Amino acid sequence: DGMPIRFLFEWLIFHDCHVTCHGISLGLVVREYTSLSHLDKQYFGFPGEILMRMLKLVILPLIISSMITGVAALDSEVSGKIGLRAVIYYFSTTIIAVVLGIILVMAIKPGVSQAADHIDRTGTTPNVNTVDTLLDLVRNMFPENLVQACFQQYKTKRKELEPPKVVTNSTTAMPTPTMPPLTTTIMNITKEYKLVGSYSDGINVLGLIVFCVAFGLVIGKMGEKGRILLEFFDALNEATMKLVQIIMCYMPVGILFLIAAKIVEVEDWEIFRKMGLYMVTVLSGLAIHSVVCLPLIYFIIVRKNPFTFTLGMAQALVTALMISSSSATLPITFRCAEENNRIDKRITRFVLPVGATINMDGTALYEAVAAIFIAQLNDYPLDVGQIVTISITATVASIGAAGVPNAGLVTMVIVLTAVGLPANDVTLIVAVDWLLDRFRTMINVLGDAYGAGIVQKLSKRELERMDLVSDVDVANPF
Ligand code: ASP
Repeated sequence: DGMPIRFLFEWLIFHDCHVTCHGISLGLVVREYTSLSHLDKQYFGFPGEILMRMLKLVILPLIISSMITGVAALDSEVSGKIGLRAVIYYFSTTIIAVVLGIILVMAIKPGVSQAADHIDRTGTTPNVNTVDTLLDLVRNMFPENLVQACFQQYKTKRKELEPPKVVTNSTTAMPTPTMPPLTTTIMNITKEYKLVGSYSDGINVLGLIVFCVAFGLVIGKMGEKGRILLEFFDALNEATMKLVQIIMCYMPVGILFLIAAKIVEVEDWEIFRKMGLYMVTVLSGLAIHSVVCLPLIYFIIVRKNPFTFTLGMAQALVTALMISSSSATLPITFRCAEENNRIDKRITRFVLPVGATINMDGTALYEAVAAIFIAQLNDYPLDVGQIVTISITATVASIGAAGVPNAGLVTMVIVLTAVGLPANDVTLIVAVDWLLDRFRTMINVLGDAYGAGIVQKLSKRELERMDLVSDVDVANPF
């Protein structure tokens, strides 16, 4: 009962990309028939600017409420071994996806200008070394002030120690003799540094994440007493999600103008080559993850043909591709997993719904690639610490993203702000999100399904034991 291919293509091409197409057309028309001054161009981009402001606005409540409730809920749900295995699977595959994305984007370099390839960017990095940046990463994980963490990040700088000055006698106008030559030579050979802490603008996303995870764990363990807090953050989370939904209603308008304004101001048409390469990078990452990584893990653990498994999920995958929402695809994911791939209902009932909200390999891969792509576009050198930050925040952003269309775009802002990249550059990737969203959603759904298959295999003993305890349950699990 597959969908007719023609319908799929019509939907893909005519129905959904209309915002992008209209944005491009509007931009081209304005560009062709008007000659806007720099100021006018900025005015023209105003509706898009408002969208970006709204997206940035919800970052804080989004991170805080979704992390705390997520962790606290896991603690109560993942009591059994089955849950723990599922969570280990979610995390490891998400991290594999992120690393794969980072390797691809660093190798393909979609955002680097061909002409600018030779520029030595090392000169622009501050005088800190790798150890300093990694230590900064850890320092940021432990913010000294929670309120400050909402708008500032810690940054270490190295400062050269001044050679000790010879004390001059202020009462005499005569200059005192300079330092003995021996001391001067020693000073020149070994430069001494000290670390000076400073703060720069930008949300300390890592700090907030670490705090919220710890806080969520504590709340989850507090039992009755923690309930009030849990309910509070749960309500906050729901309210934030509603706000995000409202923002999403405005999204078509905002995106239309973001794209149109970009077309109006674009001077270097090479950007289209870069965008094309960027899409190739994301799509090949998704392809490798779904055809190599996930099947390999499945084969190693389950020892069955992974491609038969993927084929069994075909209908769910096509649905995900069409509606770009893993949550809305869930009923079909259930059916395919249980009927075609014969996965136990006791497994799917836990692994699939939880997976649909927190296990998003495709989204995580996409977020990491997009962030590094934007850094490349801006000639923004990333140090090791920042790349680690991108991996962590991309993972968290994929967990925080709801399983609805374009959710990854909202949480993308988290990754960008975490490393100090201009969040406004989301504009560029917004134009092609309608397409990439479909494919990453497909991989998100596939990842959940493989998870169910793998957890079922690993939990065979527990399932058999449950069967022995009660036969009635198996016959009629609901
Ligand atoms: N649309 C995706 C999903 O539902 C989330 C995303 O935007 O990445 O899985």
